[in-house]
Formats: sequence, C-alpha cells, structure tokens
Amino acid sequence: MKIVVLVGAPGAGKGTQAKLLTEDGYTHVSTGDMFRAAVSESSELGAKVRGFMDAGALVPDELVIEVVASALKQLPKDTRLLLDGFPRTSPQAHALAEVAEAIGATVDALFIEVPIDALIERLSGRRVCEACGQTYHVRYNAPPATGECSACGKGPIVQRRDDQEETVRKRLEVYEAQRNALQAFYESRGSLLMVNGVGEVDAVAARIKQLL
Ligand code: AMP
Repeated sequence: MKIVVLVGAPGAGKGTQAKLLTEDGYTHVSTGDMFRAAVSESSELGAKVRGFMDAGALVPDELVIEVVASALKQLPKDTRLLLDGFPRTSPQAHALAEVAEAIGATVDALFIEVPIDALIERLSGRRVCEACGQTYHVRYNAPPATGECSACGKGPIVQRRDDQEETVRKRLEVYEAQRNALQAFYESRGSLLMVNGVGEVDAVAARIKQLL
C-alpha cells in the first residue's frame, strides 16, 4: 500500500486536491469527513467528537488513532491512499508509521502551503451544500440565489459550523502549533514533499502530480 499524507492548514485545498487525485485511482480518507458524518448520524463516535469539533479543537489522539488504524487495516493491499487531515500531531504521526510498517505500506507527506490571510478569506467565505458536499465561496463562486445547489438541485447551502471566523482563527492556531512537529518528523525520514498551494486548482494539481 502507498500512503500519501496530505498536510495543510484548514482551507489549504487538501479536500479539493484529494478529489482530483481520486480520478487517478487514489482512495481518499478524510478524518474530518468521517467525524462530520458521525456527528450528523448522531452515532456514538459522533457524540464523542462533536464538542471538540465545534470548539475548533483537536479530537484526542487516542480516539483518532483507533478510528484510522481500523480503517487502514480494512483496505486492500494494493490501495494508493490519500490521508486527509491525519496525522495532525506527533503521536498520530508515530502511530501511523507503526501501523504502516505492520501492513507493509510506504508513507510520504505532501505539504500544501498557503499563507494565513488567504486561508482566513477562503474559509470564512466557504459555503457547503448539506446534501452533496458541493462547496461554494461567497466571493469567488457564490451559491445560487435560489438556495438550491447547482450540483444536486437540493440543499440547503450552509456555512460549516467550524468555518465561522472565530473558529477558523482557532483552527489555524491549532494547525500552526502542530505543523512544525510534523514537518520535522517527515523531514527526518526523508519523506517530505512540499507544494505551493496558491493559485488555480488545476495549477496546484499539476504541481502535485509532478511530485507524486
Ligand atoms: P477537518 O475537516 O480536517 O478540518 O477536520 C474538522 C475537525 O475534525 C477538526 O477541527 C478536529 O476537531 C477534527 N479532526 C479531524 N481530523 C483530526 C485529527 N487527525 N486529529 C484530531 N482531530 C481531528
């Protein structure tokens, strides 16, 4: 199994780029998506993670590691996997390295770099279709005035609870605090890939494909 860890601040474009890479045969696993699904299904996991997510804080390592390790072990051996949003901390990175070794997987970390002002603007203007996940931006790609999603015809189109500006700032602080540790970890293993995440989606995608 080949694992590519996508690292980047919230709003750096990890989800968008991952979606494009799935067209090249990658499987995309996002811990944020898994947790949001758990919250909206009101599952046991959802009840455990909801408070942390609403506060823009990280879910405890132990819980995230358990969820991801069990997901990895169920995947076929020839999977090319994009891990989006995991690991975010040093203990998570160590845990991933251990699981990867146990299942014979390689791990590379792709860092998507975007300056902080651009991130705040991207995130606080982002809107999402609750039915299909299609994303919009109030300035660059405004949601239809009818309130119906242009992708699925349904809706509603809403602001993610954790995209409100106050929470965005908190999430970015949390990210900055973890980023250096992750960079050092993957640099020391010789498996760090850096890409400039500023610019059109396709241009960033082309840079990423050259690296992978
Ligand atoms: P994301 O969509 O990746 O920004 O994740 C949304 C929220 O889910 C984060 O703000 C955290 O509360 C939680 N979360 C997702 N992945 C992790 C992780 N690897 N470690 C801890 N918390 C996480």
